[in-house]
Amino acid sequence: MTAPIAAWIGLGSNLADPVAAVERGLDALAHLPSTLLSGQSRLYRTAPWGMTDQPAFVNAVARIATTLEPLALLDALLAIERRHGRDRARDLRWGPRTLDLDLLLYGRAQIAQPRLTVPHPHLHRRAFVLVPLAELDPGLDVPGFGPVEALLAAVAEDAAQCRAIGD
Ligand code: ATP
Ligand code: MG
Ligand code: MG
Repeated sequence: MTAPIAAWIGLGSNLADPVAAVERGLDALAHLPSTLLSGQSRLYRTAPWGMTDQPAFVNAVARIATTLEPLALLDALLAIERRHGRDRARDLRWGPRTLDLDLLLYGRAQIAQPRLTVPHPHLHRRAFVLVPLAELDPGLDVPGFGPVEALLAAVAEDAAQCRAIGD
């Protein structure tokens, strides 16, 4: 049996009831085959990124321990998105969506394949990912980019706009 790998998943939603959508996403991660949900950040309300004329997002990061290979894990994440009503044919890039699940990190792997880039290509400059990621694992080193705390310091202004829900 292969040893489980720690992987980090970014969750985001900004349609209908985004808190419920992210919570359903976390629950779906906990039920993936060959996978344990080993940690989760709080949920954050964050400003839209890229396409800013749309409702605020709810974002969170989960850590899993999995024996799924990276592409099998990506396919499992895309299947969860589909089950939660995401219609890619209608999606705009960086536009509104019911649930987005991105593979942020897969152990210390650096992957450049047509369907999968790891670390996630925008992770190092997105406060809405770095804030929950640093909450969950403050000592984390992002392969190729450095300590998560240093990446977070570089987006401090945006990070100040990410509010933990319930605070
Ligand atoms: P962004 O990638 O900027 O966050 P997005 O999440 O809206 O944008 P999607 O429409 O969810 O983009 O994904 C488009 C494609 O990106 C997926 O079909 C997938 O093949 C590819 N992709 C490449 N690397 C990753 C990754 N690390 N995690 C998730 N999808 C990825
Ligand atoms: Mg995304
Ligand atoms: Mg995505």
